[in-house]
Amino acid sequence: MIQNERPALSNSLWTATANQLADYAPLDGDTQTDVAIIGGGYTGLSAALHLAETGANVVLLETRQPGWGASGRNGGQINPGLKDGPAQILARFGTAMGERMIALSGGAADLVFDLIDRHSIDCAASRQGWLRAAHNDSTLGDLHDLARSWQSHGGGMDPLDRDGMARMTGTDAYYGGAIDRRGGTLHPLNYALGLARSAAGAGAQIHGETPVTEANKQGAAWRLRTPRGTLSAERVLICTNAYTDAPHRDLARSFIPVCSVQVATERLPDDIAATVLPGGQHVSDSRRLLLYYRKDAEGRFLMGGRGTLRDSSTQGQMTRLRQVTIELYPHLSGLRWEYAWGGYVAVTRDHTPHLHELAPGLLAGLGYNGRGVAMATAMGREMALWAAGADIASLSFPVTALTPLPFAFARNIALEMEVLRLRLLDRLGI
Ligand SMILES: Cc1cc2nc3c(=O)[nH]c(=O)nc-3n(C[C@H](O)[C@H](O)[C@H](O)COP(=O)(O)OP(=O)(O)OC[C@H]3O[C@@H](n4cnc5c(N)ncnc54)[C@H](O)[C@@H]3O)c2cc1C
Repeated sequence: MIQNERPALSNSLWTATANQLADYAPLDGDTQTDVAIIGGGYTGLSAALHLAETGANVVLLETRQPGWGASGRNGGQINPGLKDGPAQILARFGTAMGERMIALSGGAADLVFDLIDRHSIDCAASRQGWLRAAHNDSTLGDLHDLARSWQSHGGGMDPLDRDGMARMTGTDAYYGGAIDRRGGTLHPLNYALGLARSAAGAGAQIHGETPVTEANKQGAAWRLRTPRGTLSAERVLICTNAYTDAPHRDLARSFIPVCSVQVATERLPDDIAATVLPGGQHVSDSRRLLLYYRKDAEGRFLMGGRGTLRDSSTQGQMTRLRQVTIELYPHLSGLRWEYAWGGYVAVTRDHTPHLHELAPGLLAGLGYNGRGVAMATAMGREMALWAAGADIASLSFPVTALTPLPFAFARNIALEMEVLRLRLLDRLGI
């Protein structure tokens, strides 16, 4: 079992069912490379793989082992797109950049499936579509607008009425919604482990148990300090997302780390499994405090949602997720709940991922707002393009100035109060 930062977040289905866990040796001694990558989740691993495939020398440093962070613990929902739909992206970023962002984010799930195919990654990938379920009339209208917006930008998303949604989910709790046919599911930790193996196979050097504690500019190169050695590189990619810490304090203050948790049942008996998400789709529902759920490849039911900062209240939140499951699917009430785990997602003020050039030669990519399986993979590829020499203006995502959030010290209290407000609104159904 992988030990997480908090005991309440550790009993993970994915570590219990993982392929062989990673055991990359620490960096030992002083060395140099073309590109250094800090962080071994999807962002860093995708960057490492894409760079190694170009023949660049690349070294990835990870505090624990690849897949330890959110990439090894998430819901395994491969969801294309950003929180904003195409029309809003164009309005915010203009036509030239907006069209590139739409292509990148809309094609992010294709990239994941393509990498899995090309590298034969064994991660139970399946592409049955992503259900966006509306819990009231107004969100139904929003989802139908979003589907129409995607239809005029390459398609992929179709509206569903109440009956269509009930047929696909196996519950009549929703007003309708939409299906995004580009989406699918995978075993998230096995996907991360497969990316690491493929990157190493293509020539990337990966070091586990190697936290970067300091980054200093020495001439044209950055020198990264770790407990047992140093690494010099002209280009450095910071891929630490919600787990960003020293030595990048301002970066860590540019988002809010929000806890997300999941619970999973034992395997459903076949007759029951056939009544819950019978087509194998996965679901995000439209509540303000998002619920996301699916079955895994062996027929367990997984429910995810918002966690909290303390273990005691997180246990309460996990109990709430089990209750919500029974409200949606009363016939699951007799089942055993075997797993409960979680981690942190990086939420940005504009709910959009960010690329920041922190200093010449130092690029950070983060802020997937809980939607990083596809987007972190795609951002890693963009960061690899930059590290290989592409002009920043040619990337398919804007590189913006870093703006640390004000009152970072008080954000946890503010966040807990906001969660209480949103929960109340959700309970009122408005
Ligand atoms: C419970 C949960 C459920 C989620 N469900 C979904 C989902 O279903 N679909 C979806 O699209 N997204 C989901 N997400 C979000 C998704 O998992 C993340 O957006 C994505 O994994 C981010 O990848 P990453 O590589 O940027 O960061 P991470 O995977 O978090 O990796 C960052 C890594 O950086 C390392 N690190 C930090 N500091 C240093 C340092 N100084 N030196 C070296 N290494 C360092 C950490 O150890 C960590 O391994 C979920 C997240 C959680 C927590």
